[in-house]
Amino acid sequence: MPDFVRPINLLLLPILLIAAAVYALPFSDLIPQQWTYFIPWLPLVISGVLFLVVGFFNFSRILFAGLVSLSVWTFLKLDFANVHYTQLALVLMSLNMLLIAFYQERGTYSITGLFRIALIFCQPGILALAYVFKADDFHQLIIWPYLEVVGIAVSIPALVVFTLCFVYLLVKLFVQSLLIDAYLLVSLVFSGWLLIMPPTSELHLSLLISLNQLLLVMALFKRSLSMAYIDELTGLPGRRALNERVVKLGKNYTAAMLDIDFFKKFNDTYGHDVGDQVLRMVAQKIRQVKGGTAYRYGGEEFCVLFPSTDIESAERYIEQVRISVEQATLKVRSNKRAKNNKKGRVLRGKGGSGETVSVTISGGVATTRTKTSPLKAADVALYRAKAQGRNQICR
Ligand code: GH3
Ligand code: MG
Ligand code: MG
Repeated sequence: MPDFVRPINLLLLPILLIAAAVYALPFSDLIPQQWTYFIPWLPLVISGVLFLVVGFFNFSRILFAGLVSLSVWTFLKLDFANVHYTQLALVLMSLNMLLIAFYQERGTYSITGLFRIALIFCQPGILALAYVFKADDFHQLIIWPYLEVVGIAVSIPALVVFTLCFVYLLVKLFVQSLLIDAYLLVSLVFSGWLLIMPPTSELHLSLLISLNQLLLVMALFKRSLSMAYIDELTGLPGRRALNERVVKLGKNYTAAMLDIDFFKKFNDTYGHDVGDQVLRMVAQKIRQVKGGTAYRYGGEEFCVLFPSTDIESAERYIEQVRISVEQATLKVRSNKRAKNNKKGRVLRGKGGSGETVSVTISGGVATTRTKTSPLKAADVALYRAKAQGRNQICR
């Protein structure tokens, strides 16, 4: 089932910030005079910053989205009199965002990256040239039929492309829960709104475009943070997050260490890819533990921290996790199976087109100690569980 909380969580902050900015805009008179000389150039400054930092983060799509926003700003600043150009700009902006959503990361200052940057930059240029030289044929080309949507006249091609891009990003966001899709979606709607209802003052325009770009900078930092703290394979917080939490908790907490049984054999039998799938499945089960937070300790080992749960309850909750892992199955397509499947001692059941596999986990639980940390004591208990035959929880 798609996770609804994370996408909404991702959208919440940018939407709140935009709402706050729109609310604060009428108070822009309060901005000190000397700042108002600088603000009109802010979108250029932020684009420059994006250019400088994005290479380090290897997250070129954020730069591309920032440049689309810069193009929107350039377009609106050029102040085309012809309303049809705005509709064309709307089509181009939406198409660009759709392309960015499809782009694979190929670097920023690589040939592909530079080509993509040039592709975005040349569009307002071509639009301006066509406008300045009044290419009559071009004018005829962009006179499109209009529709009225909630009191706003939008050309049908613009509406179709915008809606397509909006729906695609929304569905992708709710299926994959990726940060980039949330920020592309927000940027698409923000830019679309600015194009259709541009602010009358240049200061407001620059402020809103800057906000759009700052949100993208924020996405950049959010991603780097999550790269440092979230394990990519399982989506659980990783070792760094665990260490920081443990320091904060001191020695007063309950901990559980969990380890998949005979996982080396599982990998040997089914291959590393199926092993990864199983790791993800097990992580999903451990994540649902009551009262605690699950971490990937490393390899096929997990840790659960219970900041305020007594050891009896913690043991009960971990036992529930052990049972849910034991009962969970994964269907493996037969072509993914390695040849020597006799080794799999942990595997059960057979399907027609593929094989149904499952694993078990062992665990150790410990609480506040005077000499060692609960984490280390839980590790000792885990080895007891392994020695006693696995697929069980020890204290
Ligand atoms: P035990 O029941 O004693 O824990 O046996 P085990 O085979 O699970 O233990 P061991 O520590 O010998 O092996 C752990 C294996 O976990 C080794 C490695 O192949 C596998 N493993 C560790 N990390 C990953 C991973 O990210 N993906 C996959 N597919 N396998 C991993
Ligand atoms: Mg193991
Ligand atoms: Mg292990």
